[in-house]
Amino acid sequence: MPGKMIYLDYAASTPVDSRVLDRMREVAELNCANPSSTHAAGREAQAIIAEAAAQLAELLNVSPGSLIWTSGATESDNLAIAGGARHRTHRGKHLVTMKTEHKAVTDVFEALAKEGFDVTWVDAGADGLLCPDSFAAALRDDTQFASIMYVNNETGVIQDIEALGTICRERDVLFHVDAAQAVGKLPIDLGNLPVDLLSLTGHKFYGPKGIGALYIADRAGCHVEPILYGGGQQRSIRPGTLPTDLIAGLGMAAAVAATRIEPDLAHLRALRQLLWEGIRCVDGIRLNGDPGGFPGILNVSVEDIDGESLLLALEPLLVATGSACNSKTGEPSYVLRALGLGDDQAQSAIRFSLGRPTTRDEVEFAAARYRDAVAHLRKLAPDRAA
Ligand SMILES: *Cc1c(COP(=O)(O)O)cnc(C)c1O
Repeated sequence: MPGKMIYLDYAASTPVDSRVLDRMREVAELNCANPSSTHAAGREAQAIIAEAAAQLAELLNVSPGSLIWTSGATESDNLAIAGGARHRTHRGKHLVTMKTEHKAVTDVFEALAKEGFDVTWVDAGADGLLCPDSFAAALRDDTQFASIMYVNNETGVIQDIEALGTICRERDVLFHVDAAQAVGKLPIDLGNLPVDLLSLTGHKFYGPKGIGALYIADRAGCHVEPILYGGGQQRSIRPGTLPTDLIAGLGMAAAVAATRIEPDLAHLRALRQLLWEGIRCVDGIRLNGDPGGFPGILNVSVEDIDGESLLLALEPLLVATGSACNSKTGEPSYVLRALGLGDDQAQSAIRFSLGRPTTRDEVEFAAARYRDAVAHLRKLAPDRAA
């Protein structure tokens, strides 16, 4: 990290845990083989991968054989949605998703709509929560696939995956969950959750970037068509040479997470409370999204403040703006717009995201910095004040 910066952007990416780094280095030094090779070193690479699959499977309570390695949640989302929908055209062409999904989901549905699929975009409430009744109402007889995220990356809102999945099972709809922000952070028991496909990625829970997985339930009719073609690895569902070291790192991140979920949650709850207490008295501030969401994320807007100026004034805090993943387009966040925020409110939004290494001192400093930055900007441009 550049000197003196305070990293509060854990929802964008997390630092790699030292045990994960050690394991990756150990594997990279030990074994250079292609895991597809049938000689002894290739078989050793396969054993390393099998161990990582067992670690990830244990975290999720699934069988290791139900996990497909990918390059991250973007690829897992693409494979699940495009691959799942195309596999089930005999059931119909209607698909359902939500307006506040990540771009790695929304853009796949946009592409499928151009291919001739019929997509319904359900609305979240003002708190970001999808009401199971409105979800059920969006399903039709020809609905064959639905995708709803677990934890929202901008607001931390947690959807009721069990209720939504139950509705899908009753209606024979294949159900995908983008859990990039949830795996390793919330307890997830896929052995007892009606989910067919689930996407995850290493770098959101202290593992390496560039490695993720797609869980495919071992259940009749639950299958995806490949979106990549090649050497036949992973039953041709996702071909390509497996990166042994990255996979070993993801496995270790899962093993570490299995012991850390409850203490991490308690730590994050205390810190988010401290942060909110420190800034809630700022004039015109509002908390975006259900306050009962994932405690690692706090998203706030403030009246009559320009978001870009605020971000600059907040240095040395490394936080995300209301445009978050859209920051390149400069458009106000479509996620916050979908929660009913106006353009000004959406573009003044700041996402603080906290992680395992975050300290009370950092959070207290961040709260003071936020109060000072807002006061400073209001002094500079008093005409903008309400
Ligand atoms: C980060 C993220 C992704 C993309 O994951 P990558 O591994 O970076 O491709 C997808 N969905 C959500 C909700 C995310 O937070």
